Amino acid sequence: MQSKEIICTACPIGCRLTIYRDEASENGFQVEGSTCKRGISYAIAEITDPRRILTSTVRVINSTYKRLPVRTGEAIPKDKIFQCMDEINRIEIKCPVKMGDVLIENIAETGINLISSRNL
Ligand code: SF4
Repeated sequence: MQSKEIICTACPIGCRLTIYRDEASENGFQVEGSTCKRGISYAIAEITDPRRILTSTVRVINSTYKRLPVRTGEAIPKDKIFQCMDEINRIEIKCPVKMGDVLIENIAETGINLISSRNL
């Protein structure tokens, strides 16, 4: 594996990291530029299982607000984002909805729920 440049987003400092495979190391990778252990974990996860919290909105059918902000309860695999958006774009929500209410269980078979980001 060639080296890969990554900006760590685990905290606001945003260290510039370089990761490359190193079979001799304990975790199989070498990470340069990290000023703390979280950066090492972040870089390895970004290479082996990249994930993101997905935020979006869903259609609301019985409110003056036309869209409800939503997000995944946890970070989902990046390669599932388009499948999740397909499901999000297909649903319509009826009020009342509370912040944290589950709107789609196990979205795109990720094991993670889509939840409301606000009361409406
Ligand atoms: S490596 Fe540590 S200090 Fe640097 S951005 Fe990541 S979490 Fe913050």
